[in-house]
Amino acid sequence: MEKEFVMNWEKNVRTVVPYVPGEQPNQPSMIKLNTNECPYPPAPGVQKAMDDMEVDQLRLYPDPTAKELVDVLAKYYERDQDSIFVGVGSDDVLAMAFLTFFNSDKPILFPDITYSFYDVWANLYRIPFERPKLDDQFKIVVQDYKKENGGIILANPNAPTGINESVEVLEEIIQSNPDVVVIIDEAYVDFGGESCLPLVDKYDNLLVVQTFSKSRSLAGMRIGFAIGNPKLIQYLQDAKYSFNSYTLNTPTLKLGVEAVKDEEYFVTTVKKVIQTREWSKQELSKLGFSFPDSCTNFIFARHESIPAQEILAKLREKKIYVRHFKSERISEYLRISIGTDEEMMQLMEALKEIVKNDAGI
Ligand code: PMP
Repeated sequence: MEKEFVMNWEKNVRTVVPYVPGEQPNQPSMIKLNTNECPYPPAPGVQKAMDDMEVDQLRLYPDPTAKELVDVLAKYYERDQDSIFVGVGSDDVLAMAFLTFFNSDKPILFPDITYSFYDVWANLYRIPFERPKLDDQFKIVVQDYKKENGGIILANPNAPTGINESVEVLEEIIQSNPDVVVIIDEAYVDFGGESCLPLVDKYDNLLVVQTFSKSRSLAGMRIGFAIGNPKLIQYLQDAKYSFNSYTLNTPTLKLGVEAVKDEEYFVTTVKKVIQTREWSKQELSKLGFSFPDSCTNFIFARHESIPAQEILAKLREKKIYVRHFKSERISEYLRISIGTDEEMMQLMEALKEIVKNDAGI
């Protein structure tokens, strides 16, 4: 095979194998269950704020402190403003946290099966890492996190499994690691998980990260935030202001505020998603699927006899998009986001047909 010629300047490039985001097909009448978005629109106040926005406001830079948004979050979560950090989606917040807190020669720790961005950031920043295996039930083995390390990141509930670990389990890990920062990524916590936020006052090395992309229906706006001890937050601010000081743009700040203010809408929307998820679990079981018990807005399911790739392709033919991950231990699973009742009924009809044809009935 011909050897590829490497230019001298290429030896200085910070190379990285990038994260592959979920596909955004944007087709008419598709059913999009592949990137865990909320199937319902944002709160009505968000629409109003959008309608009221004047384009002249865009002449000016946005507020670099995102004060209005930080204020409503502080009120909602009953914290002081200096314990809150906001960013462009939780991806931005997490990337900043990796850069700021994972700066040791010792490996950071995260499970072999989890959000597939963690190893990408670690590689990008040249952070050594180890990935302790989840057990056969995809649960954390606490002992694996009681060794020397340069920091810990855990998604809870975990993705793509949907499993919630109890706060007691996480507290044991946080307590055993006072010399490093422990990040808990709670992107899906509003759908029935247990939040570690009450532990923030007890452990100054704990950073909890959440997002507006799922339970607040604002994936397109890109808002994420972290809550932690003011000292941790100050370090994050220092890194942010050394990188890009105007992260959240003016429309995002305005719409984000409205999304937090309407608690009633938030609670109703989350409840609807949970109800549909529980119905979907029953229907999937009837069709021969099994899955870990999900506390999120998705179900991670495998079929007893039909390969995941085959189901994926057949659903795609019907313009139904779900997510598949190729990595070894989970390659027989499909991650199915929870849509509206109507969308989930259509999905079940499509799966019924696939299962029926496979059985030759
Ligand atoms: N953490 C986890 C576990 C996720 O699944 C996602 C969504 N891809 C994110 C963080 C990032 O979400 P966002 O940047 O939209 O806030």
